[in-house]
Amino acid sequence: MRLLLVEDDSLLGDGIRAGLRLAGHTVDWVKDGVAAQLALAAEEYSLVVLDLGLPRLSGLDLLRWLRQSGATLPVLILTARDSVADRVEGLDSGADDYLVKPFDLEELAARVRSLLRRSSGRASPLLKHGEITLDPAAHRVTRLDQPVELSPREFAILQQLLESAGRALSREQLEQSLYGWNEEVESNAVEVHIHHLRKKLGAELIRTVRGVGYMIDKSDPDHG
Ligand code: CA
Repeated sequence: MRLLLVEDDSLLGDGIRAGLRLAGHTVDWVKDGVAAQLALAAEEYSLVVLDLGLPRLSGLDLLRWLRQSGATLPVLILTARDSVADRVEGLDSGADDYLVKPFDLEELAARVRSLLRRSSGRASPLLKHGEITLDPAAHRVTRLDQPVELSPREFAILQQLLESAGRALSREQLEQSLYGWNEEVESNAVEVHIHHLRKKLGAELIRTVRGVGYMIDKSDPDHG
């Protein structure tokens, strides 16, 4: 998933970005509220990690702007220990969750997983489709209970297609979620990853929707 990190503290931002990347996300990082506005207007993100104390435009003002613009993506705010009022105001202004600094990167990754799960309308932590089970927390995929080795990008594509089951995703949408800024998009990369996924998981799982992109059908509730 492609996330936006808004944090003006370089050291903290570095650590958060590294932690979220380790959890398999693509992370774009900006250091002030105005840069965050520009990024949010230009790109499609699955979630925002938002520090409240920011130069140029405060986190709370950014949050209000984002919700007024109709954006529904989950926002996790980062606040200082003594600022209960900020947390309350943040939640009331449209934040979905918060963490108090200093926090553990594992907890951040878990809260991000939980918010992404909820925003895709799932209560279960596992994504299942027929013989395939994907565990976002353990970063593990099994087919008929046997582990399947996937590269990080194959994993990300599979997760995105499973999250959007029943809806076709274009190659551009998949590329967007795989590559952050300053990363060269290899041509045909998505096609190559899909090819490998089909080899590893069966040719029928991912359908090509002509002129649109790729999709995994909604799974039959009676058969997993
Ligand atoms: Ca700050």
